[in-house]
Amino acid sequence: MKHNIQYSLLFLIILIVGCNTGEKIERLIRQSNYVFPKGEKITSNNFTGTVWVKMMGTNDSALNARFGNVTFEPMARTNWHSHPGGQILLITEGQGYYKAQGQPARLLGKGDVVEILPNVVHWHGASPNSEFAHIAISLNTDKGGTVWLQPVTEKEYPK
Ligand code: MN
Repeated sequence: MKHNIQYSLLFLIILIVGCNTGEKIERLIRQSNYVFPKGEKITSNNFTGTVWVKMMGTNDSALNARFGNVTFEPMARTNWHSHPGGQILLITEGQGYYKAQGQPARLLGKGDVVEILPNVVHWHGASPNSEFAHIAISLNTDKGGTVWLQPVTEKEYPK
């Protein structure tokens, strides 16, 4: 029993030293709970803030669809944009927003589904205090790729 406690303490110390900070430990735990891989940090002018993308399809042209996992840090979001063939979002983690032009922003959580009809101008992204992840499925991709527009300003972003 005494040995078990000692080994547990040793394990904890190694974990803390190895990870530096509690924040990193928390991130590790959170990452281990993700269903889908987070992928690579993207550098693109089509997003505000830090976003990770993992594309997942292997038969995009045969299926006429493109899909992947997208993860946003708090406050990160897409620019305004539209999809000529429409898009489906399946929310897997955290809390975020979907906003279509002229409509109120919709608060989203794990398990929510968003259907975006072709050419509807919109944006999606994380809420101010939560990471946010969704599977994004772009449909009818033979109609053309995402049409990117201007960034979502601080004024437009709900807080
Ligand atoms: Mn979209």
